[in-house]
Amino acid sequence: MGLTSRNVVACHQCAFWVGLNARDGTCRRHAPRPGDAIDEVAHWPLTHHDDQCGDSAVAGAAVEPRVTCSECIYWRTSGGLAPYKRREQWSEWWAHAGHCTRFAPYPMAATGYRAFWRVTHATDSCCDGAIKAPTMPGSAEIDRA
Ligand code: SF4
Repeated sequence: MGLTSRNVVACHQCAFWVGLNARDGTCRRHAPRPGDAIDEVAHWPLTHHDDQCGDSAVAGAAVEPRVTCSECIYWRTSGGLAPYKRREQWSEWWAHAGHCTRFAPYPMAATGYRAFWRVTHATDSCCDGAIKAPTMPGSAEIDRA
């Protein structure tokens, strides 16, 4: 599938797509949203190479760069996490895990809702992140302008 109207491109042509094989890859356009359960692991959705969407951008275009969690100002960790349940990950994975705090929780209809930020690995990445200032390692200073 080639370029279509409104500059929508197929996943395999998109700057936000990470191919896993000839047919499938993961969409890394967005960071995970907070959920309602503690220490849920974030999984980026699989898409087919010729899927497309309105958030696409041509690979190589001047779009938001993909940032690795370990270098991102939104990633919070204390030398890994020690969850009550390891879920589907090994303890070694949790030793390099942290919470992605990129987004605030959305208001809910129910009262008493508690939000929990989802867990990512140091080597995960997305295109909603921002790289920490090199002079302030570990800083959570965020430009709110
Ligand atoms: S790169 Fe930053 S915003 Fe993206 S998933 Fe990792 S911590 Fe969240």
